Amino acid sequence: MPTRSRSVARPRPTPASWCSPVPSSASSNRSRTGCPAAGRATPTRRPSPRCPTVTRACRWVPWRPRRRGWTARRPTGPVPSRCTTSSPAPRTGRGSVPLPVLMYHSVSTVDGRLRGLAVPPRRLREQLDALAAAGYALVGLTEALRRNGTQTVAVTFDDGYVDFLEGLDVLRAVGATATLYVNPGHVGTRMALGPLLSWDQIRDVAGAGVEIGNHSLVHHPLDVLPEALLDKEIRESTERLADELGGPARSFAYPHGYHSARVRAAVARYGYDNACEVGRRLYRTGAGRFAVPRLQVTPDHDGAATVALTRTGGPPLVPAAKRAAQPAWRAVRWAALRGLHRTLA
Ligand SMILES: [Zn+2]
Repeated sequence: MPTRSRSVARPRPTPASWCSPVPSSASSNRSRTGCPAAGRATPTRRPSPRCPTVTRACRWVPWRPRRRGWTARRPTGPVPSRCTTSSPAPRTGRGSVPLPVLMYHSVSTVDGRLRGLAVPPRRLREQLDALAAAGYALVGLTEALRRNGTQTVAVTFDDGYVDFLEGLDVLRAVGATATLYVNPGHVGTRMALGPLLSWDQIRDVAGAGVEIGNHSLVHHPLDVLPEALLDKEIRESTERLADELGGPARSFAYPHGYHSARVRAAVARYGYDNACEVGRRLYRTGAGRFAVPRLQVTPDHDGAATVALTRTGGPPLVPAAKRAAQPAWRAVRWAALRGLHRTLA
């Protein structure tokens, strides 16, 4: 194992404090691939409030592609005409209808700060039953966009926790499907809310009709990455998903919800159909597909509250204030990134 000084001196893709998890056991990806940080303690950090499932630092990208004849489309050409990476501001033109997109993480019960990110199976059943009774079709995001939103709710789950298998039972019982976003570089390890699905389990989930989407390689906040690392995050995760699942993913979810015009354009150039953020408001069909906002459903939403959330989008002030503060917040994170690099140089 390299010494600490050598490890510190090597160029890093992103500050350790913003990187994602890692291994729950000695059989983790990082251990198998010889990560220099494997086996020694990594600093603990506060999770992000936007996708706060990251608690441990990782300084290693654990995956090397195994080619089986498929490679991601490299971003050499123009953005496909069907792709619009415009700002998330909704258009309300003729024919535009609201499309509620629900965001879940873990299907379990969690106490403490992360409680809102875990919805227990019984509550999930109550929420989805209420939506089905209200006449909504419950499908994955790409399918919902294809249907143009009418009486449709898109259901999404981030991070790929093992407890999604319980969620899958609920989806089947309700007659629903969903989109599950996974980080190819973290498959089989664990994050803050529990262990993550293995590739075999993800393939089973896909076989059950769930759309598998890309959540980036190792959950970096993409909007503050240098160009080369941004490309690596998207390209390698795209290739790995296609390699493991036999075809390219069509939907992308920005880690922590962070994105910018540069990030949206990069995702579009790799051939994705759509990408989603956190947003906390309703999407309107016809708006840009590369910043689809989602509504966070918590264990405090009963059936009636879930239906109300999908109809109103929730309180408008909070998401508006967050959007207004986003450029300043990105500048702070950029500054922190540059400061860390200077410290380590
Ligand atoms: Zn996430």
